[in-house]
Amino acid sequence: MDSRIKYPETHRNKCAACFRQFNKLEHLVEHMRISYHSVHEPTCGICGKHCRSFESLREHLIGPLPKHECRDIFANRGCKFCLKVLESPYSQRIHQERCQLSANTGLIGRFANLGIRDNLTIGKGPQVVALACKMAGGGSDGSLDLCARVCIIDERENILFHSYVKPPIPVTNYRYETTGIRPEYLRDAMTMRQVQRRIQDFLCNGEPVWKIRPKSGRARILVGHGLDHDLESLQVEYRSEMIRDTEKYPPLMKTSKLSNSLKYLTQAYLGYEIQTGMQDPYEDCVATMRLYMRLRSQAHKIEEYPLASDPQNKNNFASWRQRELEGMSPDQMLAISRSDYYCWCLDSI
Ligand SMILES: [Zn+2]
Ligand SMILES: [Zn+2]
Ligand SMILES: [Zn+2]
Ligand SMILES: [Zn+2]
Repeated sequence: MDSRIKYPETHRNKCAACFRQFNKLEHLVEHMRISYHSVHEPTCGICGKHCRSFESLREHLIGPLPKHECRDIFANRGCKFCLKVLESPYSQRIHQERCQLSANTGLIGRFANLGIRDNLTIGKGPQVVALACKMAGGGSDGSLDLCARVCIIDERENILFHSYVKPPIPVTNYRYETTGIRPEYLRDAMTMRQVQRRIQDFLCNGEPVWKIRPKSGRARILVGHGLDHDLESLQVEYRSEMIRDTEKYPPLMKTSKLSNSLKYLTQAYLGYEIQTGMQDPYEDCVATMRLYMRLRSQAHKIEEYPLASDPQNKNNFASWRQRELEGMSPDQMLAISRSDYYCWCLDSI
């Protein structure tokens, strides 16, 4: 008799990551093939369930429709910002107080370091800068986004560059209520071309553009929110492997796979308000850099080949291995499953 018969079928065919159950083993194998579960997914600190995003983890822990056992424990000793579960309600209070940040308002003081921070870095890994723009409107109806202000900061939230930009075509709407930009601020501002050159210099950091490779050399990692749009408006190109975008990072996206606003992410994961009234791009730089730093510092198991796209992992769920895969336990299948996105924790290795 088949020894497998002693296990209830549903228990056997339960995904070890998301706990979904399948009637047939082959369906679990198919699920593993397309799910890209990994140690890098946001995971419930109580039951160990893997989630695709922090938002779905939040739904699991807090609601709507939480898992009751996890919700009760989380309510007692979970951090509502980073969603970690602490040892006791006491350590939860200490932790959450530190986890909640407040706006960095030291804008003026931050300028004092301008220019002398070029070789600064925190911890391991390449240097990182965050960039943000504020747009004025161009075109006949003022709806065309024109970069009119740009800021770049380092890991310590020091300003490397902060400037108004004179757009190459006329501004038809200054969007003063949110940008605070007046015509006279742009009249003698740096030209787009000058700004482009400065930004390229900050990004490449002395490395020739053609030589830029992730994980080697001096080129800097670029952090931002909606960087495609910012870089397009600045007409700056940069290697996608060097870009960390909080708008497109799967763990920070909605369960529906749509993007969250930076305002929402800052409120939910850092615990403070941004973009109230007139907006300074420095504030956006700080928020994206903090989100990046927090996610980069996650302690995930170190794997030799962390990505599903790494050639070594390419055949892990190949169809010719079907029989072999069906002989594995759900845990064994999870152990060979790899992420389909680059987890930012890998930047610190
Ligand atoms: Zn699953
Ligand atoms: Zn990771
Ligand atoms: Zn749970
Ligand atoms: Zn926390």
